[in-house]
Amino acid sequence: MQFHIPFTHEAGAARVIFGAGSLALLGQELARLGARRPMVLTTEGQKAQGLQVLALEGARGGRLFAGAVMHTPVTVTEQAMAELGDCDCLVAIGGGSTIGLAKAMALRSKLAQIALPTTFAGSEATPVLGQTAAGEKITLSDPALRPGTIIYDAELVCSLPTPMLATSALNAIAHAVEGLYAKDRTPFASLMAMEGIRAFVTALPRIATSREDLEAWSMAQYASWLCGSVLGQVGMALHHKLCHVLGGSFGLPHAETHAVVLAHAVAYNEAAVPQLLAPVAALFGSETAAQGIATFARDLGAPVSLGALGFALEDIDRAVEIALAKPYWNPRPLDAAGLRGLLQRATLGHAPAA
Ligand code: NAD
Repeated sequence: MQFHIPFTHEAGAARVIFGAGSLALLGQELARLGARRPMVLTTEGQKAQGLQVLALEGARGGRLFAGAVMHTPVTVTEQAMAELGDCDCLVAIGGGSTIGLAKAMALRSKLAQIALPTTFAGSEATPVLGQTAAGEKITLSDPALRPGTIIYDAELVCSLPTPMLATSALNAIAHAVEGLYAKDRTPFASLMAMEGIRAFVTALPRIATSREDLEAWSMAQYASWLCGSVLGQVGMALHHKLCHVLGGSFGLPHAETHAVVLAHAVAYNEAAVPQLLAPVAALFGSETAAQGIATFARDLGAPVSLGALGFALEDIDRAVEIALAKPYWNPRPLDAAGLRGLLQRATLGHAPAA
């Protein structure tokens, strides 16, 4: 691994609890915070999991809001705030959408958050919130947004539908990979990134073979925590910018888009910083990191083309224009022709190339 110095390390303190069945500890965690009336947040589709939380000793005085949706619309946050009443803590059970709602409510109410992640997106480990108002997504970063307690219970994530297993993991792996070549990368974040990818590479084939393998689900949650922590510590680059554009301006689904774009964005950057991505190539046993990621994603059954997600070749010019209007820092200079080629390959499901 390349040693990068000088660096500045800053990580928010969070209490992180791991273990299958650890949802049972929620009552004691609420008591630790002096909370008795949690507002339990989730999506309509995960209402049963929300009710399961509310039935726990120590949480029964709370209430449920099962209206979280993608991209944290301010209208939904305001609706949830109107139902907050005398609730004294926020408990989010769900993926990035639900955890985003908890962050948005914490911003407004200053209440403590407990996150119970059910996907691998990693939002629980970051101080970042992207909320939408009037069709525009605005991202804020504030240490107060980071949930103070995270409970990783494999029994909560193991209901993840099989197609989301691969896409959500690739969403997390994208945080780790971009962390390796971040402008503000640190040896500590790179360590977490490689360990996170390694743990996913071990866990996912096991889960794909047996969905009952709770130890493998726990390992995948460990991987997701590490990758999310990288996202919370260092800046992201081209891959995240493209996914932001494709999700924000073209309505493409979050995790699936990450899954398709990652190998292509890595191929683009690997041409400039092969040494920073060499550990990833070595981990996959492939010639390049991009090839390793592409093969891993395909073997897990992840989608391979943006076309299949509803993106058209005619959309490419506008996407490139938006991406270049407010670019993120990137290790390889961005040029319109290079990005057009990248998006063309990704749209058609072709192999990644530099
Ligand atoms: P999600 O939270 O939108 O969930 C997708 C769907 O899967 C929902 O219908 C949900 O109810 C369902 N689901 C989730 N877990 C399940 C489970 N275990 N079993 C059955 N169904 C389940 O998906 P996501 O990919 O986790 O989150 C995407 C959102 O999170 C995006 O808006 C993205 O911008 C945001 N995000 C933010 C950060 C951050 O740091 N701020 C990081 C990653 C993602």
